[in-house]
Amino acid sequence: MQVLSVTPEIFPLIKTGGLADVTGALPIALAGKGVAMRSLVPGYPAVMAGFKKAKAVLQYPELHGGKTSVYAAKVGELDLLVIDAPHLFDRPGGPYGDATGADWPDNWRRFAALGRIGGDIAAGAVRGYQPDIVHAHDWQAAMTLAYMRYGKAAGVPSLITVHNLAFQGRFGADIFGGLGLPAEAMAVDGVEYYGGVGFLKAGLQAAWAITTVSPTYAQEIRTPEFGMGLDGLINMRAADLYGIANGIDVDIWDPATDKQLAAAYSARTLKARKANKAAVEGRFSLESDAGPIICVVSRLTWQKGIDTLATAVDGIVAAGARLAILGSGDAGLEGALLAAAARHRGRVGVVVGYDEKLSHLMQGGCDAIVIPSRFEPCGLTQLYGLRYGCVPLVARTGGLADTIIDANDAALAAGVATGFQFEPDNAGSLLYAIDRMIEAYGNSSVWTTIQRQGMKADVSWDRSAARYVDLYRMLVSKKAD
Ligand code: ADP
Repeated sequence: MQVLSVTPEIFPLIKTGGLADVTGALPIALAGKGVAMRSLVPGYPAVMAGFKKAKAVLQYPELHGGKTSVYAAKVGELDLLVIDAPHLFDRPGGPYGDATGADWPDNWRRFAALGRIGGDIAAGAVRGYQPDIVHAHDWQAAMTLAYMRYGKAAGVPSLITVHNLAFQGRFGADIFGGLGLPAEAMAVDGVEYYGGVGFLKAGLQAAWAITTVSPTYAQEIRTPEFGMGLDGLINMRAADLYGIANGIDVDIWDPATDKQLAAAYSARTLKARKANKAAVEGRFSLESDAGPIICVVSRLTWQKGIDTLATAVDGIVAAGARLAILGSGDAGLEGALLAAAARHRGRVGVVVGYDEKLSHLMQGGCDAIVIPSRFEPCGLTQLYGLRYGCVPLVARTGGLADTIIDANDAALAAGVATGFQFEPDNAGSLLYAIDRMIEAYGNSSVWTTIQRQGMKADVSWDRSAARYVDLYRMLVSKKAD
């Protein structure tokens, strides 16, 4: 089966978030399952620097203001189709904006071009290549599905994955003329969105199927609370909506081989975590005692519920736990956490910044990781926690609810618990989970059972890739009907 992935980011070439991890890992995981995935990506400087140009497989004398070529390239195990359009993509800064973070004013052109080319390739524009399915990611690639629907590829099965519904690609009605779509597309069941043009909306409308990155988030986005204005449309498409949780790279995140740890360990040698815990105490200036250390590795934002955590800090310290916090983001939240560290010297340590290496040590040395998000499409840090025996305490929302089994009495008795859940946006409920965690921690056989159960969970890409394959097969069989 040939699948064309259309994506604005792909790890390791260009990444701003979890989307890149998915689009970079999926082709590799699918290769062993009879699916050949080619990825169409914009030729940002970092992408163009990653391969040597050969003969173009597709050319446009003029597309949104300049000559545009598409090159086939192999980068590592990835099979790419790169859009070389310097007038659109050869710029310093990030993929969506300049160095100050301000969006490029012509983003509609840049990602309409990605969609237009995706639609053309779906219709067979690259000689010798006809994808069986087109899989687009987020608003930046969503227009591919509109170009397919209103062009020559309406009969090719398509799928859109929503990684975060908060980003929608909304533009004024005045851009419609520049899209090159037929007039009928500017309609409620087309690309029109609240009087303007909505790229993600257009893709959600046109896709044969829609996925999000966890089953619970797939249900949540059907409600006004999580739907960000698109819940009506998503409900209309509910029969074609699926949730498939992300995996993680289990080679990079492996406590048995992790070079960032003071001591490597496995589920059988959990006692070796002690050396990592001592290293964490040193890095965060925490006192040593027999109680647990709870960590936070997060963007410090409202979405992540860090204000809820700040409210709960005094209670967490009073309950006898220590806190090691790594993160950056909202200045007010950084200030609140630094103030808590000043109030509780030796009990609360805060490192402001982004530190990949330290995040590994924390997963390998802390006893638990707390993730109080208000909404969480999938979440990765709880998956790292499972793999490292750093027991997750999570808000019951989105991917967090799907991947962690709460240590209630029944789950403990059955030996299946992997962590603790609490109500999002509720410091009291968070503190109650901390109390339950501290009690379990006090019984070493209960605690190691929870740790080992988590370490057994399959958090690899292999499992998620199998779900995508099932969905691709279903869509291809729909075409045959
Ligand atoms: P989101 O993409 O919404 O921020 P995820 O949990 O899906 O949340 O992914 C966050 C990723 O970023 C994880 O790999 C996490 O370890 C990493 N991360 C977040 N903050 C930091 C930090 N301050 N230092 C190091 N890694 C961080």
